[in-house]
Amino acid sequence: MTGLPVSCECGNIRFRTPTSEPAGMAYCHCTACRKQSGSAFGTSVYFSSAGLFPLPEALEAKLAMFTHPTDSGNTMRCYFCPNCGVRIFHAIVLPDGSLRSTVAFKGGVIDEGIDWKAVKPRNIFTRSAVMDIPDGWECYEGAPPPPKTQGASKS
Ligand SMILES: [Zn+2]
Ligand SMILES: [Zn+2]
Repeated sequence: MTGLPVSCECGNIRFRTPTSEPAGMAYCHCTACRKQSGSAFGTSVYFSSAGLFPLPEALEAKLAMFTHPTDSGNTMRCYFCPNCGVRIFHAIVLPDGSLRSTVAFKGGVIDEGIDWKAVKPRNIFTRSAVMDIPDGWECYEGAPPPPKTQGASKS
């Protein structure tokens, strides 16, 4: 089967990521991610948007969504389970209305397929970090360069 299994806390949402290999990962220390996660940082695991959108009807019917503007002038569409409130993924809409080439899944909703002790996600928006980041980890004070995706024209 393609993709990694995804589920929310209550089990209402269950599907698979578009591919089994993420295009990248990040621990995000921005204030929005801290609010969203209710914790010290957010964990993003990136996959190609083209593999997820348009959303399958059955999945879209189960998800709730809200939007908010981002600092860089885009619009973030945040998809979550309306039953338990868990954020599943977000997609970025660019000013021209197109989707950014990657969507970001929340790390904790991916049930298997990532060895968290073996990966070293880059740390982004560290200027608002509320924790010390261990030496030797890739860090960006603000937005990082976009994750690499195959065949993507936009980032
Ligand atoms: Zn749920
Ligand atoms: Zn963030």
